[in-house]
Order: sequence, then C-alpha cells, then structure tokens
Amino acid sequence: MAHYGYFNGTVAPVDQLTIGLTDLGLLRGYGLFDYFLTYNGRPFQWDWYWERFQNSASRMHLPLPLGKDETYAILLNLIEQSVGTDMAIRFVMTGGYSADSISIERPNLLILTEAIHPVPPMQYEKGIKVILDEYVREMAEVKSTDYKRVILMAEAIRAAGASDLLYQKGGEISELSRSNFFLVKGNRLITPNRHILHGITRRTVMQLAQGDYKVEERPVLLSELYDANEAFTTSSTKKVLPITQIGELVIGDGHVGPVSRSLLYQFNELIKDW
Ligand SMILES: *Cc1c(COP(=O)(O)O)cnc(C)c1O
Repeated sequence: MAHYGYFNGTVAPVDQLTIGLTDLGLLRGYGLFDYFLTYNGRPFQWDWYWERFQNSASRMHLPLPLGKDETYAILLNLIEQSVGTDMAIRFVMTGGYSADSISIERPNLLILTEAIHPVPPMQYEKGIKVILDEYVREMAEVKSTDYKRVILMAEAIRAAGASDLLYQKGGEISELSRSNFFLVKGNRLITPNRHILHGITRRTVMQLAQGDYKVEERPVLLSELYDANEAFTTSSTKKVLPITQIGELVIGDGHVGPVSRSLLYQFNELIKDW
C-alpha cells in the first residue's frame, strides 16, 4: 500500500511521480503550496484551504489548471486509494516548464498524499521554546515554497534547545516559521495581522474563541511579551501548541496555561466530529 498523488492528469503512487528538470520551481524557486489534513477521511476546512490556495496562485500569477469541484473529486480519489484513514494532503504549484527559464507558460500542479507527522505529546504537556529571529517573509500572505530561513537556522535552533523561530522585524512580531502566533492576556487573545500567512488553524481557533475571549487582530510588539499570561502557536499539524519560553524569556509562569489547554481541547473536539 502506498500514498497516491496526482500530477498534471496522472494518478500514481507518489514514489512513481516525477517532475522535469526545467521546472521553474527547481530552477528559480518559483512555487507555492498548501497543506492540510483529513479527519475521519474528510479534508478539514476544505473551502478555506481552497480559497487560500487560489489566492496564493493568483498573487503568483499562476493560472489554476483545475476548478474547485474537479480538484475535490481528485482528492477523494487519492484518499480512497491511499493507505490509512487520515493523511496529509500537499498541493504544490510551480511556474512549470519554461523555454527561456523565466517566462511562465503552463504551471505544474502536484497533489500528494502523505503520512501525518504529529507533534510529540510531550510538547503539548510542557510547551515549546522558540528563539527570536529578525526576519520577515517575502510576500508573507502567499504560502510560497521558500523556507530557506528556517532551514539555514536549523543548527541555531537546535543549539538553543528550541523547536522553532519567532520572526520579528523592528520589534513587531509576525509569526513562526510555519505557524501563527497568539498571546493571551487575561481574557484577551492577541494575534498579529501583518506580514503573516493567514493560517486556517488561526482562523478556526479565532472562531472557536468567539464568545469566551476578546480576539484582537493587530500589530503585536515584542514588549508585549513581558506581561503575557500565555503564548501559543497554531498550524494544521501543530493544532494549538503552547509556547512557554521565547529566547531567555519565560512566558507567564512557564507552564502550559488554561487558555491554551482549553482551545486545544475545543479544537480536538471539532476535528473528532469532522
Ligand atoms: C502553513 C503556515 C502557517 C499555518 O497555516 P495553517 O493553515 O494553520 O496550517 C503559518 N505560517 C506560515 C509561514 C505557514 O507556512
């Protein structure tokens, strides 16, 4: 049994799919992607992920070769053929093959199914440490394939005993390398709204939080970390993952707080019945 993928009209086990050497994703780093999970065999928040993928493609001037319903049918087919009930789905779209290595002629679209790599349970219990990095993602609202920064910083992250980077520029916090950022102060949830990829998990969590918390989407400064009760990060794989240390700064009392715990619980309830 294998994971199946789709590439320009062909469905095959992922390890049998290949892409040509003149692809602009390879030659010029021109590509974008999206990534989401299935729960109970169904793609989670499909409408929202599709909308984001479409927006990313349009900002990168890449015409989508497939419509929404057509893509969904391909997805269901891949899920049915692949091993396991739940899996990750990765869309990758690149500039495609280009005669002069610069002009876009016809984009390449890949849809891959993959095994899910869940966060170790210990990290939910203890929270994670992140380190600050002065950086802002280029075209931050596009889920581009450019993750040079975090790959380059891997050794520095490891040396600090941390699991990820928290990007800031000029004292303004944006996000982690692959996930969004939240602060908790009393009954307020505060999340940056600029220079970020608009995470679907972020959006889901803000929706779950409505009513119980006051949600503030606005620029967030480094100085606001000092009196935060809790911090957490959100992404499709991390769900709601507590952050208990940022560089040398311990957040709140250094333990996973009740708000992060409760939002993770609510998120898990939501996906249980998806
Ligand atoms: C994917 C990603 C996120 C999180 O998005 P989700 O839709 O919640 O998975 C946040 N920031 C960056 C830079 C990302 O690549």
